[in-house]
Order: sequence, then C-alpha cells, then structure tokens
Amino acid sequence: VKKKAGKYEKQSQSVKQTAVLGAGIMGGGIAYQSASKGTPILMKDIKDEAIELGLKEARKLFSKQVERKKLTAEQMAEKLTNIRPTLSYGDFGNVDLVVEAVVENPKVKDAVLTEVEGLVSEDTILTSNTSTISINRLAQNLKRPENFCGMHFFNPVHRMPLVEVIRGEKTGDAAVAATVAYARAMGKTPIVVNDCPGFLVNRVLFPYFGGFSSLMEHGADFQHVDKVMEKFGWPMGPAYLLDVVGLDTAVHANEVMAEGFPDRMARDGKTAIQVMYDNERLGQKNDKGFYAYE
Ligand code: NAD
Repeated sequence: VKKKAGKYEKQSQSVKQTAVLGAGIMGGGIAYQSASKGTPILMKDIKDEAIELGLKEARKLFSKQVERKKLTAEQMAEKLTNIRPTLSYGDFGNVDLVVEAVVENPKVKDAVLTEVEGLVSEDTILTSNTSTISINRLAQNLKRPENFCGMHFFNPVHRMPLVEVIRGEKTGDAAVAATVAYARAMGKTPIVVNDCPGFLVNRVLFPYFGGFSSLMEHGADFQHVDKVMEKFGWPMGPAYLLDVVGLDTAVHANEVMAEGFPDRMARDGKTAIQVMYDNERLGQKNDKGFYAYE
C-alpha cells in the first residue's frame, strides 16, 4: 500500500468534464459530490427510474445545504445544472474522466467498460468504483489499460472522506494523477493502493461482515449486536451498515472476496447475509433489510 497520493499530483492533467455510469446509491452520490464541488458530470443509467432517484437524492442533499444556509436557492439551482442526466452516450466524446458505478458484476462491468472505451477519446481516463473486483481483471478486455484504474468511493459519498485510487499492473501514472486530482477536487482524501480483491478497506470490512453473519447463524440478535458495536465505538453496527451498503452488493462483493481469498473468505452453505438477500431484503434501497424503512 502506498500511503501518499501527493507524488502524482504534479503530473495531473485537468479534469473538467466527467461522467458516471450508473445512477444508483453510489452513482447518484458521486454525481452530487462532483456537482457540489463544481465539476460538471453526465449521469448515465439504463433505467429512467434510476436517473429520477439519483436526481431526487441530489436535490435532497442540496436542499439540506439551503436549509442550513450553506447555499442559497440560486446557488443550489446552479449546482444542479452540473449534473446532466442521460440514458445515452451522446455527449461522451468530451469527457475527461469516467467513473463506472454499475452493479457489482464482473460481466456487466466488462461489457460497460468496453462499450464506453469505444466511445470516448483516446486520452479519457476510465475508472471503476468496484468494491472488490480486481482492477487487473477488469483491465483485461480494455484496449487502453494504461488509462484505467480504480476510483473507490465509500457510502454515503457526500460524508465519507476516503477514496481508494487503485493502480493496476498496466495503469499509467497519468491515469492515477488525474484520478487523484479529481478526488481532491471533490473534497476527498485519496490514497493510492495496489490491486487485489477488496483493495484495502474491504479486505478489513468483509471479514468483519463474515464475523457478524456467523454470530447471526449462532442465534445472536442483530439489534443487540448493533448496539454492542456502537458501544464499542463504531458509528453504526454491522446490520445497519449492511442495510446502507445493500445486501445485494454485499453478497456479490463477498463472492469476489471468497474467490480471491478462498482460505479465509469462502464458506460452506448459506450465510445469514445470503439468506437475507435470497428473501429480497436488500436494505435501504428497497426499504427492507435487517431493519424496515419508510
Ligand atoms: P445500485 O444497485 O444502487 O446501482 C447500480 C445502478 O447501475 C442501477 O441504477 C442500474 O440501473 C445501473 N446499471 C446497470 N447496468 C448499467 C449499464 N449498463 N449502464 C448504466 N447503468 C447501469 O448499486 P451501488 O450500490 O450504487 O453500487 C454500484 C457500484 O459501486 C458497485 O460496483 C458496488 O460494488 C460499488 N460500491 C458500492 C458501495 C455501497 O455501499 N453500496 C460502496 C462502494 C462501492
């Protein structure tokens, strides 16, 4: 792990126009954060409802700033124009940097990344917000792997300061530099890390979720575990955190981790988290996870 992102900053090309693929929990948050800090962003999804939800979330976050008198209504309206929702790749020719934030499925990501690579300019930097999938694995089908790296935000994007910038074997310095610069322009703290399934944070977090799941399978009460972990000093317990992350995303990410670290992460039979997912309890995204939401 390389702790300092600073050495890349001197080499950075400027990132003026960006795009995010996927307007879900993460894509919507990335669009809001970019718009809020003044970098225009195209927000592309394949579903109209997703675009609507992404915009609704951005409006809600900007409105809170207006309520707190941190923004005027005019400033909010102006910042919102930085987000350009779209269902097509029409304007991707002028984009400096793309953040892919579609579902955590390697095949879908491969398809989306190769598709977008064919449409953007030769200098455009492509990044993936994958939680766990190796950047070298995602780079395999790309024609310009030197322009590709990971840009891993955390949820909720507007509150979490850290961004992991993941350097694959073929990633060039210019791609890392532009991604570090964009993360800083968004008000985040980038760290540059080497590639492996789960990178740094999720190599720590997913074994923790596994420990929680095992407690559940041994009969523990999730609310009790959450309260105990809060008393331990964590801002929220594992059940609530899983609801925020999305049980579907957690299950798919765990599959990638189990493939990458079979000795530590693979389990026989279904985990409690998998059972929740099978019962369509996806967390806050569909209003029912461990807890119920409105
Ligand atoms: P999500 O399910 O909320 O959103 C995914 C979005 O991608 C959906 O709106 C879907 O319609 C869209 N999509 C699917 N195929 C597409 C395509 N071909 N083109 C454009 N859009 C497409 O998922 P999410 O939680 O936002 O996760 C997105 C990515 O971010 C995943 O790789 C995930 O691992 C990663 N991530 C998630 C979290 C988290 O806590 N949820 C944290 C960090 C990173």
